[in-house]
Amino acid sequence: MITENITELVNYGIAAGLVDEMDKVYMTNTLLELFGLDEYEEPQNQAAITNPSEFDLEGLLNQMLDYAVEKGMLPDNSIVYRDLFDTKIMGLLVPRPSDVICTFKKLYAEKGAKAATDWYYAFSQNTDYIRRYRIARDKKWKADTAYGEMDITINLSKPEKDPKAIAAAKNAKQSGYPKCQLCMENEGYAGRVNHPARQNHRIIPVTIQGKQWGFQYSPYVYYNEHCIVFNSQHIPMKIEHDTFVKLFNFVEQFPHYFVGSNADLPIVGGSILSHDHFQGGNYEFAMAKAPVEKAFTVKGFEDISTGIVKWPMSVIRLSHKDYNRIIELADVILAKWRGYTDEAAFIFAETDGEPHNTITPIARKRGDNYELDLVLRNNITTEEHPLGVYHPHAELHHIKKENIGLIEVMGLAVLPSRLKSELEQLAGAILAKEDIRKNEVLEKHADWVDAFLPTYDNINKDNVMDIIQKEVGIVFEKVLEHAGVYKRDDAGRAAFERFIESV
Ligand SMILES: [Zn+2]
Repeated sequence: MITENITELVNYGIAAGLVDEMDKVYMTNTLLELFGLDEYEEPQNQAAITNPSEFDLEGLLNQMLDYAVEKGMLPDNSIVYRDLFDTKIMGLLVPRPSDVICTFKKLYAEKGAKAATDWYYAFSQNTDYIRRYRIARDKKWKADTAYGEMDITINLSKPEKDPKAIAAAKNAKQSGYPKCQLCMENEGYAGRVNHPARQNHRIIPVTIQGKQWGFQYSPYVYYNEHCIVFNSQHIPMKIEHDTFVKLFNFVEQFPHYFVGSNADLPIVGGSILSHDHFQGGNYEFAMAKAPVEKAFTVKGFEDISTGIVKWPMSVIRLSHKDYNRIIELADVILAKWRGYTDEAAFIFAETDGEPHNTITPIARKRGDNYELDLVLRNNITTEEHPLGVYHPHAELHHIKKENIGLIEVMGLAVLPSRLKSELEQLAGAILAKEDIRKNEVLEKHADWVDAFLPTYDNINKDNVMDIIQKEVGIVFEKVLEHAGVYKRDDAGRAAFERFIESV
């Protein structure tokens, strides 16, 4: 069986463009060695692989992993060790970084940025760095809201670790190599129990503001062509003048991609503040589609189209043909916001020497113009809101408690995996007219369900999930409203305008 598996994997590698036909024997021998085999007979019936993206790579790798487990090649038959080992297998098929970079650069030079990223995105999936079959398991839907169509996803593609692996990771010595999961040193790294294997990973170098940066896709693909652009140095995130320059440097080279940065303070930032990086991609979020609802001009910058975006969070959009002009005004707004206090609106630049104000910036090209969205953020906490005043409040934590980072800000809710089963159970409980308050798991959703249930006349097995999904979208809308520093009422609008005036 393992011999057939090896043949099939080599055929897959050839079909996916990872392995050259000329390397077939060499590749077969490399895989034989990995499995400790010294005999091989080419199988008679080999199924042709025509479309690698539809090939059952997961099934094939599972058979190879089972063989490795049986032969005692894995310390333990758990997902952590299986992922480490199948990445090692796939790593053997993937060309060296220099090859991959040459292919990318050639495509970029001859056919343009889109051809290059199209190829690299397919490549990153064919290598199994992006595990297509896991991404396909994520729950995704669209939800209509007052601000347009939001995207909702329950992410199931990050493997849940089993207790044994968690214990092993806890006992493993804390390594400083690679310093984090965004460091360049991950390329080709074998991984360990507390760090993912990346033998199949290749990074494209890009020049950003004269410095070397890396370009790669996120292995978890929250949206189409979800990419990560990261500093080749492991240095912390910082929102400053250079951030705006770097974002536009990237958009200039990849005009079909937007790119944004998480804010640089806890609570309102992303999950990795220790490594300077951006996230981008080929996707138009609800926020990008949202119109400017109130235009204004700033003295000295009358040539820049400037306005407040119709969005639950507080967003200023700048638009101009010349992004250097946009950066000049963005510098003024950022400096102003960093030091801005408006006690009546509960905006404090700092308390006890701790700064609170920052910005989540997103850059894109629209037609001939460049655009920059500046999302005003504040991370102050109070006794009433210990996780953050401009963060989803306690009554929404049954759906979303985690940071509202760049991706959520733009209109994509990344919800915890527990919700998949909770929402399914909830549908069953609603149909059975169960008392949700008596259910230990579902109890936290009871107030929410009590509020929306009476607004529907007829709930049945055909529409119950649609209703729940729609209501999750409405909760997400509230999540973003809570994260907005200026509320969408008269007082909030007036306060937003006071800030604009001060600019
Ligand atoms: Zn790092």
